[in-house]
Amino acid sequence: MILAQNVPLQTYNSFGIAARAEYLVRVRDEADLQAVLRDARLAHLPRTVLGGGSNVVLTGDVRGLVLRVEVPGMRLWAQTERDIVIEAGAGESWHDLVVWTLAQGWPGLENMALIPGTVGAAPVQNIGAYGVELQDRFHSLDALDLLTGEVFTLDPAQCGFGYRDSVFKHSAGGPDGLGLAGRAVILRVRLALPRRWRPELGYLDLQRKQEAHGLAAPSAQQVFDWVCEIRRAKLPDPQVLGNAGSFFKNPTVSAEQCADIIAREPKVVHYPMPDGSVKLAAGWLIDACGWRGKTMGHAGVYERQALVLVNRGTPERPCTGGEVMTLARAIQTSVYERFGIRLEMEPVVI
Ligand SMILES: Cc1cc2nc3c(=O)[nH]c(=O)nc-3n(C[C@H](O)[C@H](O)[C@H](O)COP(=O)(O)OP(=O)(O)OC[C@H]3O[C@@H](n4cnc5c(N)ncnc54)[C@H](O)[C@@H]3O)c2cc1C
Repeated sequence: MILAQNVPLQTYNSFGIAARAEYLVRVRDEADLQAVLRDARLAHLPRTVLGGGSNVVLTGDVRGLVLRVEVPGMRLWAQTERDIVIEAGAGESWHDLVVWTLAQGWPGLENMALIPGTVGAAPVQNIGAYGVELQDRFHSLDALDLLTGEVFTLDPAQCGFGYRDSVFKHSAGGPDGLGLAGRAVILRVRLALPRRWRPELGYLDLQRKQEAHGLAAPSAQQVFDWVCEIRRAKLPDPQVLGNAGSFFKNPTVSAEQCADIIAREPKVVHYPMPDGSVKLAAGWLIDACGWRGKTMGHAGVYERQALVLVNRGTPERPCTGGEVMTLARAIQTSVYERFGIRLEMEPVVI
């Protein structure tokens, strides 16, 4: 285990916020974590788990110990009649895993191409894009319990997946008492890729691509290419413009609430859900409040997609986490005042 002190985190978070970690350990395997737990110097420090830093807002220097998960490895784990089960180390890049599976001839992850971050963070918020979520492909994961030092395995039901949600986002002291936030470090994730693969083309953007190319049955590689093209056109590249992707979750309202909003705002973008509720496009709500392209301090709202908050600073004077939070709260207030809807933030505030 290599322990570093006073480590700059600016390149370790996709917003490019210039915070520092009091201590940082790179976790390459379980033994690194066991060494952390045995080390008397580190015993009483607060711990923060960090992957690629693409879904966090750092509001200041991080006190205590940052565990940066870098566990490597990708392999075929099992084959069943229905699925190819693969296993990847938590520190692998999610997008690299998608590329690797396609190269092996195992489709199933292509709709989630180009989602930044690590494999280990993917179950934390049940990542998803273009009609497929992690839970649709999830098999199981191994994690280490920071309280006991034991490694345990969770199946899909035990992960409690929801829309951008899982047990890893809830603390043990929460209302259901089942949370694992801050307690579990995910080490390995296994995914089941269906042998009888069919393209998922339910999203309008993908249907448009399909029509434009006149392809009745596109290959997984074709879907991958379309998803990459769509994402590159819509979302800012964090290497060029710091951001954490969608900053707010799409809110869900009852059919009655939605009818009420439509009566006032006929153009509101909404998607009926199978359970009778209605999902509203958070980006549309923010846009309707006039936020697109606006800047407060050194944080701003992306001009091409109001759901994305961006770093409008410079490498020398990047936006601070405080500026991002001030902007986020101002947006929440104006959406609430106009639509009566409370927007929930998607990134984890540290
Ligand atoms: C441009 C852009 C586009 C994006 N598009 C999407 C999208 O389409 N869909 C989507 O769902 N998300 C999207 N995101 C959000 C982000 O990519 C995902 O949430 C991703 O899974 C975060 O991975 P990370 O490794 O960067 O996690 P981090 O930001 O490092 O961490 C996020 C949370 O997970 C925890 N965590 C990380 N690793 C582990 C681990 N090994 N064990 C336990 N806890 C851990 C952290 O403690 C933290 O609470 C986007 C982000 C950006 C910047």
